[in-house]
Amino acid sequence: MCIRVQYAPRHEIVDPWDRDRNLITLPVDLAATALFTLRGLRTVLLSMGVEQDHFGARCWCGEEIALAAQVNQRENEVTRVG
Ligand SMILES: [Zn+2]
Repeated sequence: MCIRVQYAPRHEIVDPWDRDRNLITLPVDLAATALFTLRGLRTVLLSMGVEQDHFGARCWCGEEIALAAQVNQRENEVTRVG
């Protein structure tokens, strides 16, 4: 099973690497640009001992990790009563 990526608010991240689910959680503010996302991802992967190329981010099986779709910014819905 390959590594997957998800985003979460920084304060909710205890451990970026969920071993049981093969899931890396990155701070949501890194989702703004692919460059920051990859940089964060590579940092986590390297700390796990997974060698990285110069570009992109690689799973331990050698496959390029597909980044999850950018976080959709939720429309600010205001419900007025009365
Ligand atoms: Zn893989």
